[in-house]
Amino acid sequence: MRAAIFLASVGLLAFVAAEDKPFDCGTGTESADPSFLDTIQSLHDGKASGSLAARAALTARDDKINIDAVFHIVMTDVAKDSITNAMPTSQLDALNSAFNPYNIHFNLLNVTWTTNDAWAIGAKPDDDAMKKALRQGTYKTLNLYFQTDLAGGVLGRCTLPSAIANGKSDPTVYFNDGCNINANTMPTGLMDGFNFGKTAVHETGHWLGLLHTFEGYSCDGPGDYIDDTPVQSTATDGCPVDPKKRSCENQKEGESDPIHNYMDYSIDECYEGFSVLQVERMRSMWGLFREGN
Ligand SMILES: [Zn+2]
Repeated sequence: MRAAIFLASVGLLAFVAAEDKPFDCGTGTESADPSFLDTIQSLHDGKASGSLAARAALTARDDKINIDAVFHIVMTDVAKDSITNAMPTSQLDALNSAFNPYNIHFNLLNVTWTTNDAWAIGAKPDDDAMKKALRQGTYKTLNLYFQTDLAGGVLGRCTLPSAIANGKSDPTVYFNDGCNINANTMPTGLMDGFNFGKTAVHETGHWLGLLHTFEGYSCDGPGDYIDDTPVQSTATDGCPVDPKKRSCENQKEGESDPIHNYMDYSIDECYEGFSVLQVERMRSMWGLFREGN
């Protein structure tokens, strides 16, 4: 998830982050499916079984990955004029410019438009009802829900991959799969600092199996289970380039917090890319959990 860790007046909308735990919205190891966690732990520790490691390596090759996407625009009656017809197309462009350098491509199948005051907030149980009504495609179809009034002091949240292939999992896993994103973060939207469409990039990173670079909020432990992102104990606010942000003393020589990484919480203009091993992880997760399902 991506949090609004600031207090800002955006048009008529005020977003106030929760004082105590602004980041707690559930995209992280605590909400992850055991099969997903076991897989990333095994791959990270080099203890994956021969067949899992072989499949992960095979799917991590740099072949072109094409992902079908469906965008759902969900608005309150009051906010509906703030979302223009051009915004979903610009959002698709933002997603592709972020992922195409890694040979991952998104194809927008459909855009749905819904005016529903309850659904636009994204709280349970309305959120479940919305997704059950709107979700399209299969488990390899990326469904992004752009909601004008997403609650909880967050810019977005998303589901991590789960083992759905055996057909035995709870059907709600399929229906709930996808990302909730504040609609004002689409390009030209009302969310100053966060309106280049990069929240959708961050959330899609979760959907493809990435954790936050500061996962665990600790300088010790496995963190995000990715070896080429520096250890990081705090989420980043803004874009602290000078002096460099260094939340952990035990970072390697010359390292600092990965504030330009899409899986931190920096502002949109600060984001630059994914690390080599994050890309490998996303490609493996696509192959192991989503492709073919
Ligand atoms: Zn996140």
